[in-house]
Amino acid sequence: MKPAYYLLTAIFLVAALVAVWTVTAANSPYRFTEYEAGFDEAESIPETNISLEPELLAIQDWQRPEGPLRVGLQVGHWQNEEVPEELEGLKKNAGGAQGGGKYEWEVMLNIATLAAEQLAQYGIEVDVLPTTVPPNYYADAFVALHADGNLDQYVSGFKIAHPRRDYSGLSAELEAIMYEQYEAATGFRRDSNVTRRMRGYYAFNWRRYDHAIHPMTPAIILETGFLTSPADRKILINNPQVAVEGIVQAVLEFLKVD
Ligand SMILES: [Zn+2]
Repeated sequence: MKPAYYLLTAIFLVAALVAVWTVTAANSPYRFTEYEAGFDEAESIPETNISLEPELLAIQDWQRPEGPLRVGLQVGHWQNEEVPEELEGLKKNAGGAQGGGKYEWEVMLNIATLAAEQLAQYGIEVDVLPTTVPPNYYADAFVALHADGNLDQYVSGFKIAHPRRDYSGLSAELEAIMYEQYEAATGFRRDSNVTRRMRGYYAFNWRRYDHAIHPMTPAIILETGFLTSPADRKILINNPQVAVEGIVQAVLEFLKVD
């Protein structure tokens, strides 16, 4: 063969590889994780253009509402198609990550329901919430439950973030306790890839959205593990009670209930 043919063959092979890679990546359900909960949508308007004043005035003399302890467990991507107009950008997330024949929302709904049953036994009011959080939602602890996905089945582990802007002053503590308890219960490794988007989670963003937590709600987002990891699925899908135990113990410790 002449050198020109080698070159043409090489160019053709590279082009074919790029084409296959592009199509595979575009069709992979696991790419939902890249857009986890539509955080990119929340970055379309520069935050600095939104005035803080109304919210700050509202919390100046804030008092916790009367009543029993309240916990919000949000099921990531549940009833995702029913979001209000302001959260329209979330629709592209559909059911979230997939793995083991299940959607993220199904796996998280199971975990949230089990955790809610246990917390209720301590006299705690628990709201199991869908994608859309009630406007200005107050709870003594808010935990958004999600699971990750990755093209590599050996990628595993959990991670947690609290809101970038936290007026409760307690979210970092809730995060630290959840790290300890969830790790102790599941034995999962800590995934250090906490993203800016997790800290800017839409349900934390009361500044931009009505359907978000109240500024004084201590909150975290917990990525419970990878649905694409057979190891993580052993707990998340096959033995969810283990993950539930970590979540329940963390919430009880944070609320100082025993
Ligand atoms: Zn999710």
